[in-house]
Amino acid sequence: MILKICDLRVYYFLRDKVVRAIDKIDLEVPEGVVFGIVGESGSGKSTLAHAIIRLIPPPGRIVSGSIFFRDLDLVKLSEKELNKIRGNRITMIPQDPISSFNPTVRIGDQLLDVAIHKLGLSRREAAKIIIEKLKLVRMPSPEINMRKYPHELSGGMLQRAAIAMALLPDPDLIIADEPTTALDVTIQAAILKLIRDLVDDLKKTVILITHNMGIVAETCDKIAVMYAGQIVELGDVYDMLSEPLHPYTRALIMAVPRADREIERLEPLVGEPPSLSDIPRGCRFHPRCRLAKPICKREEPPLRYLDSKRAVRCWLYV
Ligand code: ATP
Ligand code: SF4
Repeated sequence: MILKICDLRVYYFLRDKVVRAIDKIDLEVPEGVVFGIVGESGSGKSTLAHAIIRLIPPPGRIVSGSIFFRDLDLVKLSEKELNKIRGNRITMIPQDPISSFNPTVRIGDQLLDVAIHKLGLSRREAAKIIIEKLKLVRMPSPEINMRKYPHELSGGMLQRAAIAMALLPDPDLIIADEPTTALDVTIQAAILKLIRDLVDDLKKTVILITHNMGIVAETCDKIAVMYAGQIVELGDVYDMLSEPLHPYTRALIMAVPRADREIERLEPLVGEPPSLSDIPRGCRFHPRCRLAKPICKREEPPLRYLDSKRAVRCWLYV
């Protein structure tokens, strides 16, 4: 396993309430896969991504748990030790590439700055590696585009440059937090294909965070479905899509329009996710669940493994 998260809790301590954004998460990410984390807005996906690189903004903090990256518990590392991992062994592909680049500095200079100052390369080595990475992400005319300012590149080209930046230190794990939401639909597929290729061709491991089940179906090998700060189901993508077990996973999948599915069979998700500062007792999904039983309102179901790969948090499977 490249990443093993145990009993992780991340809360935001506001003046009048505590937002339990991540609550008792256990997760294992094997090497060499695209691992999708999917859920509605506010389910805690970005908080989980930021917890992995220990960049939770105040008033948030990791309350308990461990995040093992190989044999290192990232939760216990000092900032100095962490800096050897963050932006090095683990890098991020941003949601919005425009805001991740300085608008007043040429793209090539920003890449050079990271390669020289963060990775300690000579200027000549840095320039060589940058061109190599820009070619890897299929940036057309890399020598010319390196001399451009961020606003002179399209969103798709800028995201390619951001992916090249994430690849610079030759990381083991790349976290992509909604990497296509800021892009036109036509560009999205090309960026997702590129992310897929990072795993297939370069043998990287990618954690892909998205609210879009369609993206997961196209790109991921494994999925964890998040609801209200917890994982409610996880497994291989084929098993999850062909036989979703948790009523929430089923609703997410049924909400993706497909040519072979009649429109009447779409089961829209009713209601809203709970506030993470006022989580309902029992199963967190029970107010929206058509299959809720009396126990669902009283007791929280455990995340139960059905086999070595598949787990579900629902009283229907206990
Ligand atoms: P989205 O897709 O909208 O980004 P998400 O699934 O990534 O949603 P998070 O952004 O992790 O979810 O948010 C989880 C919860 O934590 C939400 O209730 C949110 O309001 C809260 N939260 C996130 N960041 C902060 C913050 N800096 N201060 C206070 N609360 C926060
Ligand atoms: Fe629905 Fe009960 Fe399962 Fe929760 S535990 S998803 S309420 S059936």
